[in-house]
Amino acid sequence: MIGYFPTPYPDELLYSVCARYCDWSPYVSSHSGAGELLPDIHQKLDAEFLGTISDDTYRMMTQNCTPSELIMQHTMFPYRARFLPLQRRKLVLHSAFIRKSDVTRQMVRAKTRYYSFEGDKPLYLRYCPVCAKEDRKSYGEAYLHRSHHLYGVDVCPVHKCYLIDSPARRDSKRNIGFVAAETFIQTEVKAIACRNPIEIAVADYITAVLHEDVDMISDTSAGLYLDSRLRGTKYQKADRGMRRNNVLLLNELCEYYQKLPSFRLRTIKQLQTLFCRSVGLMPFEVCLLGLFLGISPAELCSMKMPEKSYVERFDEEVLSLYRQGMACTQIASKMHVSEKSVRFAVRTSMRRPSLPSDKRKAWNKLDWDLIDKELLPKVNAEIQRILSDKERKPIRVSVHRIETQLNITKGRLVKCHRCLSAIRAATETNEQYISRVLDWAITKISADGGTVNLKSLHLITGMSKEAIADALDAVENQGGGAAANT
Ligand SMILES: [Zn+2]
Repeated sequence: MIGYFPTPYPDELLYSVCARYCDWSPYVSSHSGAGELLPDIHQKLDAEFLGTISDDTYRMMTQNCTPSELIMQHTMFPYRARFLPLQRRKLVLHSAFIRKSDVTRQMVRAKTRYYSFEGDKPLYLRYCPVCAKEDRKSYGEAYLHRSHHLYGVDVCPVHKCYLIDSPARRDSKRNIGFVAAETFIQTEVKAIACRNPIEIAVADYITAVLHEDVDMISDTSAGLYLDSRLRGTKYQKADRGMRRNNVLLLNELCEYYQKLPSFRLRTIKQLQTLFCRSVGLMPFEVCLLGLFLGISPAELCSMKMPEKSYVERFDEEVLSLYRQGMACTQIASKMHVSEKSVRFAVRTSMRRPSLPSDKRKAWNKLDWDLIDKELLPKVNAEIQRILSDKERKPIRVSVHRIETQLNITKGRLVKCHRCLSAIRAATETNEQYISRVLDWAITKISADGGTVNLKSLHLITGMSKEAIADALDAVENQGGGAAANT
């Protein structure tokens, strides 16, 4: 029967609280104390997560602290589980609440893969000599801090000095028993100040992440979030699809973290794992990428995705330029993207859902003659606008284009015979259209003071030089048009 249980100090590991209990009780050793605190004395302890504990211990622990506070403020849950998929995160938290051995098993499962990335370096209980000194002054004893046990962080975030490994292991591979900080922290240990700015920055960043609230509602994948934060940077090749510049990103990451001893990301394959769902198992690497990309710890922990996806925004921009009368080639050159992706965006944006059958029936009841008469002036005006526009590269008159420009539901104009006749009358043959484009191009080049030749015509129209030469020959043979004068 446990009569008294210590209250956790700020940022103290739950393991450390239990170890202090064993250290204080005059009748228990760390192993017999374990027998009192745990239902199974042979259970392997994990200093980061205290899985199964006896009902008596749990009752004592939660006397001055809610179960949620215990998990969120005194275990490594907010660091290790933060980026796991929501279901897994909930499962781990639930296991922690009901004190099933699952909590350790769940995290161990996660850590097995995580550790493979970390390497086989044994992990020890650690402390900061200055923190220990201050804790002894404030509380009368030293204790183990959570922020000293973050993988990859070797510097105390408060005193910017190197953390010191104790002889006691802290990973769950061995039965370590309960080792109180007071038993191994010497009073005369000299603190070694860290002079490496990147190690200090990483320590500050990851400690801030540890202390952020854990989101237990959103299921945003950390991988997708990090990917969304690459958009608009040089690490994302500008195009409609998701094309990450992995080589550039990896090279600059390695350069940025070259003086960080715990940085292990070296291959493209490792980098790619950062952008998939299993990235939740690698909180250290997620934080490193967050710091590198200038994402604040609060932003990284809330993971707010942009309202519109990159593809939606890309399509909107393309469509807006297209509606202003720009050709796909011009849009591609303006946006520095491939013409293929611009054409695809235009096609996708223009594709409207087909009408459901009840709407189709409603259409049949409409007075198409009246609609035709109403639309005709607008259609004629649009045809005139397209044909008389001398400012931009000529575009062809077509049913599809008129519907798009006037924002008319697809298929309506086909039912309007007058409008259809007007559009057909204004539709040019291929030769007529090319001739009009060349007329426009020659006028524009001359007005800009340029030299009219095949190269300049090719650059401004986007047509092949052969097609331009053929068209000019044809015009010359017919003996007319501005094009013939070149
Ligand atoms: Zn310290």
